[in-house]
Amino acid sequence: MIKISERLGRVEYAIRDIILHAREYQKSGNKLLYLNIGDPVAFDFKTPLHIKHALIDAINKDNDYYTDSEGWPELRQSIVKKESRKKGLDITSEDVLVTNGVSEGLDMVMGSIIEEKDEILLPGPYYPPYSSYAKFYGANIKEFKILDDGRPDIDDIRKKITNKSKAICLINPNNPTGEVFDSKGLQSILDIASENNLYVICDEIYDEIVFGDSFYPIGKVSKDAPVILLNGFSKTYCMTGLRCGYVCMNSSSRQLDSLRQNIFKLSRVRIASNFPVQIAANAALNGPQDHILKMVQKLNKRRDLVVKRLNEFTEITCKKPKGAFYVFPKIDLQNKWKNDLDFVIDMLNSTGVLTVHGSGFGLSGSNHFRIVYLPQENVLEEALEKIDMFLKKKKGF
Ligand code: PLP
Repeated sequence: MIKISERLGRVEYAIRDIILHAREYQKSGNKLLYLNIGDPVAFDFKTPLHIKHALIDAINKDNDYYTDSEGWPELRQSIVKKESRKKGLDITSEDVLVTNGVSEGLDMVMGSIIEEKDEILLPGPYYPPYSSYAKFYGANIKEFKILDDGRPDIDDIRKKITNKSKAICLINPNNPTGEVFDSKGLQSILDIASENNLYVICDEIYDEIVFGDSFYPIGKVSKDAPVILLNGFSKTYCMTGLRCGYVCMNSSSRQLDSLRQNIFKLSRVRIASNFPVQIAANAALNGPQDHILKMVQKLNKRRDLVVKRLNEFTEITCKKPKGAFYVFPKIDLQNKWKNDLDFVIDMLNSTGVLTVHGSGFGLSGSNHFRIVYLPQENVLEEALEKIDMFLKKKKGF
């Protein structure tokens, strides 16, 4: 056997790792209910027709060659329209890098800024690739607290900053909790970052999947702070499998000049992101947007159903998320389960309901689990009924 790199051993992704347990369960021939992956297209949210047509048309017109490494100029312009004119971040198309999904953008940003033993501050709990990419490039993770009212714990952030700190990451709305930051919370993080010469990496992939008007874009308070915004088409435009996202670097920030001048080198190494998909993404930004409201209305009902039902179980407490499509209930493990992973596996093996253990989202995710509420109401009801029976059986009823 030839040795692999030590750094590969630092990578994990709970959301997909749990599938290994599901495969074992499937061998029993029993039905699985997938509440583990946040892919709207796998449920009843399909890519809008005008986006599909733009993609097919692009291929039929032979627009399937390599395009510019930074991204197709027309799409970069449309991204500026959304992120700058609509959401307030100061950018021109020169500050935009189009990537094969937010995931690739995150990889490129982390790879461009991290040195061995740097520290990356993440909001606990967080979307796992943030820690995996950071660790892969040699950084250590410092998790900061989010208070019960959804605000970042500023004192905790200050305590965790050291001379090794490199960046503060924000996921807004958050995966897995569905929390959103208000303008005050964002402002205080930007102040700390500017004072300490730290990058702010902010992921707004769920910016349009919010209930009510609770979402506040970071662009509106960024001024000249070193903000790197990540966004993409997977969720709002139901384009998960098509893979398109982007990185925007605040034009007004001089602290970002070096990154701005150098990150495009990485984009050239991987040549370009998928050209026909970029044409489809451009159609997504410029075409009808009415599917978004319909999606949010459907999700609103599903969220309310799941939160209400979960709170009826004595072992579970569940906050109402303000955005995205996840709930992150707390489970009272008592002495029935060793930890949240044990709980999730036991529930999977007893009911076929597949969720994700909270500790996969960082230390502060312990004693929680994540449910994706994208499935239709009848599937959610079936899953919740099974969870109810499972909990009752454990109590000896
Ligand atoms: N960022 C967050 C916060 C996510 O929850 C996800 C997917 O679940 C992604 C990024 C992945 O985005 P993409 O499909 O554009 O790679």
